Amino acid sequence: MIKFLDLQLINSAYEPEISQALSRVLHSGWYLLGDEVKAFETEYGNFIGSRHCIGVANGLDALRLIMKAYIEIGTMKEGDEIIVPANTYIASILAITDNRLKPVLVEPDINTCNIDPFLIEQKITGRTKGIMIVHLYGQNSMHPEIQRLVEKYDLKLIEDNAQAQGCFYGERRTGSVGHAAGHSFYPGKNLGALGDAGAVTTDDEDLAGVIRALGNYGSRQKYINEYQGLNSRLDEIQAAVLRVKLKYLDADNQHRREVAQFYADHITNASIILPEIQNLKSEIRNYRGHIWHLFVIRTLERDRLQRYLTEHGIQTLIHYPVPPHKQKAYQDMNAISLPITEQIHAEVLSLPISPILAQEEVHFITDTINAY
Ligand SMILES: *Cc1c(COP(=O)(O)O)cnc(C)c1O
Repeated sequence: MIKFLDLQLINSAYEPEISQALSRVLHSGWYLLGDEVKAFETEYGNFIGSRHCIGVANGLDALRLIMKAYIEIGTMKEGDEIIVPANTYIASILAITDNRLKPVLVEPDINTCNIDPFLIEQKITGRTKGIMIVHLYGQNSMHPEIQRLVEKYDLKLIEDNAQAQGCFYGERRTGSVGHAAGHSFYPGKNLGALGDAGAVTTDDEDLAGVIRALGNYGSRQKYINEYQGLNSRLDEIQAAVLRVKLKYLDADNQHRREVAQFYADHITNASIILPEIQNLKSEIRNYRGHIWHLFVIRTLERDRLQRYLTEHGIQTLIHYPVPPHKQKAYQDMNAISLPITEQIHAEVLSLPISPILAQEEVHFITDTINAY
């Protein structure tokens, strides 16, 4: 059986460094808000190219805290609207509604599955305060049109970079192109911890200070509480593990690009639509704007193809089977019609891709798909 993502194998590749990191924290006697988190924040902030990095408990909290901070600062208030892609993982939208802000869903471009920049302006109203872009599947979703709108309407640009650690937009890493970005280090992400972990990156010093306080009971100084905060901290163990894996992230992403390149060059089955980035074929190897968190194909008979691949020992997943606006959690949005989003959810299938996927496995998956 070829697993969709073999986390045991992925993390074993970093032995003995991970064990040394775990042991270092264990024996330090210091488990929260210590040197490992401080060092990781510096290293990850430098990697992304942001002046400030704040470790938090997970990716959802990273996004929640950004908007909670904008509310504390007075940039946003209850009922304000945030533009967000309709085709995203539900966490992007939960972060908005948790702050009593209103998500305004925008359809994706069918070719990239990312937000269609040219459908945004028609959704902007007097209450729009921000745009949250999601670099879905590891692909940059920033676009000059979005920059134009941010400047024209004086909006905050928030990046959901949960799936795109290492990806580029031009010469900048995603996570440093907006006003603030949320990152997730959920174990299955390209930079994955051994449990939950997340971070916020931003160049905005005031925002960074409020987020740091909000994630620690609203306190900047022990036992002095400035805000009604929460407890959302990155712990030392996870930071120490992430420091090990960060060193290898670009190389790991490069291996994913090579797998994607092979799929793109060799999957020839006419019933399958390959993911389309700018000039996909033969360009992936050098194209830094995609880190292939997921390799997502589309096909009309998705469930049948998935069964066939399972029968042949290949595990695939669907990202995602039900769009946020059709979830029970968002009954108020169930009636909205978003045909492109709904089509994507009915047709997508994610093939195995990872830094440790072997060449024979990639060949076998490709041959099996072509024989379908
Ligand atoms: C994983 C993910 C999140 C949430 O991250 P957690 O660490 O699981 O809270 C948010 N947005 C997107 C697009 C994600 O893929």
